[in-house]
Amino acid sequence: LPAAGELLQRRQSHFARPQKNYYRQPPQIERGWREHLFDVEGRAYLDMVNNVTILGHGHPRLSAAVGRQWSLLNTNSRFHYASVAEFSERLAGLAPEGLDTVFLVNSGSEANDLAIRLAWAYSGARHVVSLLEAYHGWTVASDAVSTSIADNPQALTTRPDWVHPVLSPNTYRGPFRGEGSTGDYVRAVGEKLAEIDEKQEGLAGFICEAVYGNAGGIPLPPGYLEAVYAMVRARGGVCIADEVQVGYGRLGHHFWGFEEQGVVPDIITVAKGMGNGHPLGAVITRREMAEALEKEGYFFSSAGGSPVSSVVGLTVLDILHDEALQDNARTIGDHLKARLQALGERFPIVGAVHGMGLYLGVEFVRDRETLEPATEETAAICDRLLDLGVIMQPTGDHLNVLKIKPPLCLSRESADFFADMLEQVLEDGW
Ligand code: PMP
Repeated sequence: LPAAGELLQRRQSHFARPQKNYYRQPPQIERGWREHLFDVEGRAYLDMVNNVTILGHGHPRLSAAVGRQWSLLNTNSRFHYASVAEFSERLAGLAPEGLDTVFLVNSGSEANDLAIRLAWAYSGARHVVSLLEAYHGWTVASDAVSTSIADNPQALTTRPDWVHPVLSPNTYRGPFRGEGSTGDYVRAVGEKLAEIDEKQEGLAGFICEAVYGNAGGIPLPPGYLEAVYAMVRARGGVCIADEVQVGYGRLGHHFWGFEEQGVVPDIITVAKGMGNGHPLGAVITRREMAEALEKEGYFFSSAGGSPVSSVVGLTVLDILHDEALQDNARTIGDHLKARLQALGERFPIVGAVHGMGLYLGVEFVRDRETLEPATEETAAICDRLLDLGVIMQPTGDHLNVLKIKPPLCLSRESADFFADMLEQVLEDGW
């Protein structure tokens, strides 16, 4: 075997350095099975951060379907074949009534870029409001509305003038705390919209995740999206729900994240889990909104919705359903959250356990009053967890939150193993 250090050096010589790699000494992964990854020496790791492979790794039914389709046909999506029609139909069937038109792309960034272009075309305006500290992608428009300084320290200084970030409704760490803070956070959006009104150039739209993802899955305060969507629509703006992480059953109770807030968006963007690791994304919207793009030009993606991508998308939906993975996300998620909360009673560094389903975040603080972020401690805890066979990663603008987004097939034993290992690290020190 080539030495791990030598391979890492080779990777760094020709693989672009800005493409992130979170571990100081990453394990060299060779294969995966369900929620586990195995390195070249056969050592197993519990994969607790993989928000892409929702079905788990190495799913035989998916592998067989992909292999069959590859050997039959894969081609430029300009051609006419059955699976793209079937997949679009299935996605439209999963979306709320009226959102019956689907674009297929290859990633979450592309989906959000296209959603913004649709909002521009439909509204005839340019200005878009997004939440501070959000991440929506790296392509030009999706990056512009991403204001996460953890991902991009320049985020707030390089913003184009059509982007208007507003205070994130972070009910744990924001200036307004608790569920009763809805009105304060809605007022912050109202003030931003009033500034845009003064320009007299209209409003194109508003984009956010239904659960505040970058901070480890903090639910938006109740009624927030209903109030914000009403203000945006009153100005002719389009409401975009970024479901790249929160959609597809990860939250356990609903298939879509926006259902947590009881709202219906105008545009849904999806990616990550929908392809279980295969590059696949979608924009789901109303027909008139999709067709507005014809005013500006056209849309084309060579591989978006290709025969292989469409078969992957259909098979992922079949497996999600047949293996009841949304139910598993709810039951195992509830169990894991209770175990993590119990750790909070023993260890003062655990400031809070955020999230729901298999979208959880453990926020580490040095002081529960001041909420001083325990950033270095979080990095050290992740490194110790790796030594114990758990792949974990920090998230949040202070990198002080454990990002818990495992495959939705996570077993109860694996959830307990993770909680046990975290307990051990907190007991032993890091
Ligand atoms: N939106 C959200 C909420 C995301 O988490 C991500 C990826 N982290 C994206 C969009 C971008 O998706 P992709 O990496 O597939 O371009």
